[in-house]
Amino acid sequence: MDSLWNSYTANVGYAISQLCIAIIMGGLYFLAPTERSTRYWALSGLLSVFGSTLTAFSISKFGHLPLIIGSTMMIGAMTAKWWGTQAFFGKKPAYIGWYLILGFFIVYSLVVLLQFTIAVRTLLFSIMLALLMFLNVVEVVGARKLKLSFANSLVIIAYTLAAADFILRGILSVSGSIDLSPQSHDPINVFGLYLIPMWCNLLGSLGLLLMYFESIIHEKEHLATHDELTKLYNRRALVNLGRREVDLAHRYQRPISIFMLDIDNFKMVNDTYGHDAGDKVLRTVSQALSKACRNTDIIGRYGGEELCIICPQTTKEEATSLGGRLLEAMRNLHHPACDNRQVTCSLGLYAWDPHTDLAASWEAMLHRADTALYAAKAAGRNQMLQYNIESDNPLR
Ligand code: GH3
Ligand code: MG
Ligand code: MG
Repeated sequence: MDSLWNSYTANVGYAISQLCIAIIMGGLYFLAPTERSTRYWALSGLLSVFGSTLTAFSISKFGHLPLIIGSTMMIGAMTAKWWGTQAFFGKKPAYIGWYLILGFFIVYSLVVLLQFTIAVRTLLFSIMLALLMFLNVVEVVGARKLKLSFANSLVIIAYTLAAADFILRGILSVSGSIDLSPQSHDPINVFGLYLIPMWCNLLGSLGLLLMYFESIIHEKEHLATHDELTKLYNRRALVNLGRREVDLAHRYQRPISIFMLDIDNFKMVNDTYGHDAGDKVLRTVSQALSKACRNTDIIGRYGGEELCIICPQTTKEEATSLGGRLLEAMRNLHHPACDNRQVTCSLGLYAWDPHTDLAASWEAMLHRADTALYAAKAAGRNQMLQYNIESDNPLR
């Protein structure tokens, strides 16, 4: 039994686990070939399988070649993994990876052929792998708008541990304190220096896989809740969020304000400058609104060129001043798509006060904001009117 615990068995285990990763990543690649990350990650798994199998034959009668090719393949595998992680974050895979592989191949070949000690060989291989694992971690940690999740934490922790373990392996190899030969049964060698980094590497690959699934789930959620053209919430998400905000306003007796906005004479923009120009105007207006409102405000496309803004915890006075600012911002927008002509908007506001209006639902609030909008259109456009609950009439 004891004889089973050596670096050969660790290598076999590593090859099997990486084969599974290669199959999963390869399967994902064929499902969605435009995703470049899975292509590199599948290649990484395959190179690991061949590389670790070849190094297991390294002291056989085949001479030094399997060791050199196998070790270079393992370095190539980790480089491909790094390239995949870069591709995942929308970057171009770094060309320098090729130099790392080639440089390693040349130096490692010299070390093997000139018959340096196994310690030097191990040091070189370990430092190189640690560097590449570290590059994967840097890629994840340095990603734009990174939000820590289970998946990316797993990648960061697993590859940091693996890199640290490889550095330790390099240091121990030159200190001469452990038996590094492939046949060694030394538990520090087998567990600490083969199995632990192997598990970490496997966990890192699983973390990358989870990151991939996580991004698909986020994208699916985003598509289901956002409007393609304006990038604002779509009507379904807007209604759901609106109902929730109104429930919260009732529950905590907090004010809430709702605006309905409609672009003035938009049909004329379309008819004069074309539908594409109309789309651009709609996008510019939407972006300007997002900029002018708070992060906590909810902006959505209710339909056509009608947008809705929900402002939680916003009183009538605050909403009135925000509405004025929004109208002004719309008047000052530039629209190169339609000869820079001014495009104005009309606004209808309903500001709910928990003390004067007890039982209004989301639907009732929206209807009142819409009534005020129609009144603003009838009053000549390019202005805001608010619905006044006391007079049951929209008033300026
Ligand atoms: P009013 O000032 O009364 O709002 O006049 P209007 O012309 O804006 O109103 P109307 O409702 O008659 O026309 C709205 C136009 O908006 C008609 C429709 O073709 C256009 N529209 C709706 N959605 C889109 C879109 O996604 N892109 C473009 N380009 N046009 C759209
Ligand atoms: Mg309109
Ligand atoms: Mg309209």
